[in-house]
Amino acid sequence: MPSFSFDIHLLGLKDASAAGRARFCDTMARITGRMPSEFSRLLSEREPRIFESLDKNHASQVVENLTDAGVRVEIRPSTAIPLSAEEQMAHTMNCPNCDFLQPAGGLECPRCGLVYAKWERENIAKMQREKSLEEAVTRSLQIREEWRVKALAYLENNPLPPEKTVPFDESLLQDELPFLALSSEQGPLLLTSRRMLFPIEGQMISMPYELVSDVDFGGGLIQVKGKIRLQFTFHAAVQVGENQASNLQWQLDKESAFYKDVVMDWAFARHFICGACGANELQYRYEGQLPYARCMHCAVDHEIDLVEAVAIPLATE
Ligand SMILES: [Zn+2]
Ligand SMILES: [Zn+2]
Repeated sequence: MPSFSFDIHLLGLKDASAAGRARFCDTMARITGRMPSEFSRLLSEREPRIFESLDKNHASQVVENLTDAGVRVEIRPSTAIPLSAEEQMAHTMNCPNCDFLQPAGGLECPRCGLVYAKWERENIAKMQREKSLEEAVTRSLQIREEWRVKALAYLENNPLPPEKTVPFDESLLQDELPFLALSSEQGPLLLTSRRMLFPIEGQMISMPYELVSDVDFGGGLIQVKGKIRLQFTFHAAVQVGENQASNLQWQLDKESAFYKDVVMDWAFARHFICGACGANELQYRYEGQLPYARCMHCAVDHEIDLVEAVAIPLATE
């Protein structure tokens, strides 16, 4: 039979001391580009095949290098077609968990016991989960952009005098668009494409519209003695210093009261959606001072970023 390629087998070392063994490992590492520690195991095997299906030139180079390092090898002709340069190592694999080098094709890792098929299945499932979470974030950023466009359209007919945003300038983010400023007995309020901003006790509060709960919970507008009172109940309470307020009220001045419908449109038209399944029934809760929301359909959990005004789906292990 014609031979097309060559295998190289390890017969032994001229110097079998620790120094000689280290020299073998270093030489193999140099030839293959792998770690020296991966090769010591070969020294306890009987005539292991250390390279397979090399072409003639490559085989003679390898033999020369190994012989120089005091390694006794044997070349055995093979009928296999020469492998590409990357494939020219004897077929081994590293455990994805503990990195143990071993012959390819095993079912589980002899060192840590990882079952490869199971690991692969779980890994694929995890990648799919991460992909759907990534799509969810993209979707929520698209929604945010839609609201920015809406704010832009509103501003065309109702320009906002720049001086109105002055108290809020430090809190505004680059890609959010302020479009309506209100005055009240309790202080100013600014509506932006993303959220409401208002100071309480010297602290600037950021409240995404999505966290204003439904009108049924008592939020909304109340007319008292000819004055409009804006009252919001929140899914995630406002944190002021040590205290939490689950609802707040503002007594709007006459001019601001004129915009009540705009406020209602923005504050009640928006809700966070589940990053994984798109449902909008989220159940809100606190962990410490941070608001979270869990989807009531698919149970994916979300972290709520009050400043960015997004619900970020959390990957679960
Ligand atoms: Zn392992
Ligand atoms: Zn869901």
